[in-house]
Amino acid sequence: MWLNDLEKRLKEMGIFYKKEEVLAPYTTIKIGGPCSLMIFPKTKEEILEILEYLEKENIHSFILGGGSNLLVADEGFDGVVLTLKEFKGMEIVKEKEKEVILKIKAGTLVNALISLCLKEGFSGIEFLAGIPATIGGTIKMNAGAFGNTISSFVRTIEIYKNNKLFILKSEENLWDYRVFKEEGVILEVELKLKKMKKERIKEKVKEYIQKRKKNQPFSKKTFGSVFKNPPNDYAGRLIDACGLKGYRIGDAEISEKHANFIVNLGKAKAKEVLKLIKLAQDKVFEKFNIKLEPEVKFLGCSL
Ligand SMILES: Cc1cc2nc3c(=O)[nH]c(=O)nc-3n(C[C@H](O)[C@H](O)[C@H](O)COP(=O)(O)OP(=O)(O)OC[C@H]3O[C@@H](n4cnc5c(N)ncnc54)[C@H](O)[C@@H]3O)c2cc1C
Repeated sequence: MWLNDLEKRLKEMGIFYKKEEVLAPYTTIKIGGPCSLMIFPKTKEEILEILEYLEKENIHSFILGGGSNLLVADEGFDGVVLTLKEFKGMEIVKEKEKEVILKIKAGTLVNALISLCLKEGFSGIEFLAGIPATIGGTIKMNAGAFGNTISSFVRTIEIYKNNKLFILKSEENLWDYRVFKEEGVILEVELKLKKMKKERIKEKVKEYIQKRKKNQPFSKKTFGSVFKNPPNDYAGRLIDACGLKGYRIGDAEISEKHANFIVNLGKAKAKEVLKLIKLAQDKVFEKFNIKLEPEVKFLGCSL
């Protein structure tokens, strides 16, 4: 019943949607069954209308970015998925001699932002090069690599929460390791970047991508790091020390290259991935008495 009403509303609003859309292609590990309805809003107005409606009707929903840190159940998700990938774009809001402030829509891909930075000579977030994520997703996850995190570059964040739209000034207490603590849907973000010679930025991007290719299963189907690193250690080192590199269940494999990655070798199921995650967690706990905490988010399934 709610589905028919929602479809009617979306048609009235002229917003594109798909019924029973399989989620696997929208994730980087290429796993997951269908959701009841997938909605593709393009503007802030459309997103707000949908969010208000979902909230008012108490409809179970999920915000999807690049699907690059996500495991979706084989059975899928009994609810609405709002993909923000069509809500994209960037603009310069302030420019000084040595720095620039960019306003970026949540669905903008990291690689599109990196391309702009390379073209204009804006530096700071080169460490994210190669991550198949949206800006909204990197904020929500406080994405980081090589000793940097996105939070260091955030000036403001526009969020929709409890029927209200508001702008938060970035402060240290809003962030934690791989966590942006504020609930709600991230719509836009302002980043403060430095100006730098384009050649130098190009070199940095190249260096970071080379590092990723050397140490991670870079072009394989994965969802990035499985676990957060525990204090003063690395999840990958601990899993490797348990002899699990290359361990396989069905088509899901703990990467030979980096033990904190799980690779879908072909037709892996979420069930197999979950078993591998549990196995790695149990073995590390048995050997080191450390309980690894998943970094990956789950939709329709849990550990
Ligand atoms: C090859 C590869 C390399 C990676 N390298 C790194 C790395 O170096 N460092 C790192 O930190 N991560 C890395 N990741 C993981 C992943 O890219 C990050 O966690 C990224 O921030 C997820 O962004 P996303 O847009 O794909 O989010 P999704 O995976 O789509 O979603 C992740 C979570 O964020 C929420 N979310 C997404 N958008 C919004 C929004 N607008 N508002 C509110 N909530 C939202 C979702 O609901 C979900 O809970 C890597 C992944 C891959 C596949």
